[in-house]
Amino acid sequence: MSIPKIINQVDTRHKAIAITFDDGPNPVYTPQILDLFREVSGKATFFMIGEQMKKYPDIVSAVSKEGHEIGNHTYTHPKLTTLTPEDCQKEVQLTEQLIRDMTGTRPVTFRPPYLDLDHKISALIHSRSYSIIGALNMEALDWEQPGVDHILSKSRKHAMNGSVLLFHDGFGNRSQTVEAVRMLVGELSSKGYKLVTVSELLELRAAT
Ligand SMILES: [Zn+2]
Repeated sequence: MSIPKIINQVDTRHKAIAITFDDGPNPVYTPQILDLFREVSGKATFFMIGEQMKKYPDIVSAVSKEGHEIGNHTYTHPKLTTLTPEDCQKEVQLTEQLIRDMTGTRPVTFRPPYLDLDHKISALIHSRSYSIIGALNMEALDWEQPGVDHILSKSRKHAMNGSVLLFHDGFGNRSQTVEAVRMLVGELSSKGYKLVTVSELLELRAAT
């Protein structure tokens, strides 16, 4: 059986980009992000941590009701390669069940914490019918708060047809991220890019 690669970009002729947020939901920053996507009629994907979902169920509902995608980002955000296969399975399953219970929809996209992955874990996640999602703008480092200009310039250069871009709405102060994404979303919309969920982007993949 072939092991699926991490998807950082989708081959497509459509002017569509998937902007993603990890580590939420967060009571301060997730609602700000929802506001700015609403302004441009765009959709995003939120890779949520199960523990956080239990703390903020209202925010999970709001994200889901506004038509954004919720992806699985494990239950406690461990390095999966350090776990036994049983514990790894549990991390994926618990959050999968929470997403089903809270939104009525089964998640179909997964992002491993720290993008930490090996062949065994890839196979396990694939066997549960997930696409494994990475991103192109890893050097934006928004989680380290490197400044709005840094986040913006390192993300802007990867904004093209089929890109997946990574940001964070959880863990620590995310105000630089919100500001950078606000500017990026405005720029992309004015250039005619459609902001879509990761699953929608996968649907736009060019036929081979
Ligand atoms: Zn994470």
